[in-house]
Amino acid sequence: MTVSRFAPSPTGRMHLGNVFCALLSWLSAKSKGGQWLLRIEDIDPGRSRRDYALQLMDDLQWLGLPWDGEVIWQSERSDIYAHYLQLLQDAGLTYPCFCTRADIMATQAPHETDGRIVYAGTCRPKNMFPSQSSLSRLSINSPAAIRLLVPDEDISFVDGHYGPQRVNLARHCGDYILRRRDGAWAYQLAVVVDDALMGVTEIVRGRDLLLSTPQQIHLRQTIASISPFHLFNLSPFYYHHPLLINESGQRLCKRDKSLDLGALRARHVAPEDIIGLLAHLAGLQPAPAPAKPQDLLPLFSWQKVPLHDIVTSPLP
Ligand code: GLU
Repeated sequence: MTVSRFAPSPTGRMHLGNVFCALLSWLSAKSKGGQWLLRIEDIDPGRSRRDYALQLMDDLQWLGLPWDGEVIWQSERSDIYAHYLQLLQDAGLTYPCFCTRADIMATQAPHETDGRIVYAGTCRPKNMFPSQSSLSRLSINSPAAIRLLVPDEDISFVDGHYGPQRVNLARHCGDYILRRRDGAWAYQLAVVVDDALMGVTEIVRGRDLLLSTPQQIHLRQTIASISPFHLFNLSPFYYHHPLLINESGQRLCKRDKSLDLGALRARHVAPEDIIGLLAHLAGLQPAPAPAKPQDLLPLFSWQKVPLHDIVTSPLP
């Protein structure tokens, strides 16, 4: 059975871009008779807010996008992430990094196209895979960030919407952070552990995360090689979707206040109008006619969804 998940970070009110993701993942799962789980990615203590998460759950109900089972809160799963970090540490696959952001910026310019920074490996131990070195003696409360040793290896996968992808991990991201210097868990570790433990078989999310997928595939395979838990052997199927952009070509975000659900609900826009518009933008109906998610199930097909990003103007 398909098990899909929607995994929002509650750092603001939901906007149309988040609803687009929720709708496509809900339709993709439910059109196969699958389950749709909700995971609140509230691991960043400085940015996540519980009131936004509660509001988001209310927004999903209001939109007619009910989730299955209990909500998973990443902020309550610290012990689980610590367990998997320890496994990786004990296998000699991590190292502490004392670089500040300024140190990193001084050694590596952000990537031209998307601003990402490939870690230059300043703190990487000379010996690629040290055995039980000083690393494993590090306390989980150490003030260093913990990075994963990333091999110079290509990872390939076939995205259900964007087709074959191939990324060289060393060139794309380098050794990346699993736990931040301030003790916060990194998205890549939490997402891989949770997707595996929740038995997720299908992941639908925005194409901005398309190139994080090889990192996640590699981390899952690495954990599978050192953990007896069979769920890490399961490879989920990925569908990335185009992003909704504003008229200046920027991805919708919480700054586009007029397109967030707080503003739309305050204006008494009906949920069917929002779903109908998004279904139209997704290529599922010829006009933005009001619709309920349930009504769209027979119309849903990934082949109808555009590949290019979609300009979204304010609702009338
Ligand atoms: N929490 C992430 C976000 O809101 C999505 C993570 C995922 O779907 O893998 O961008």
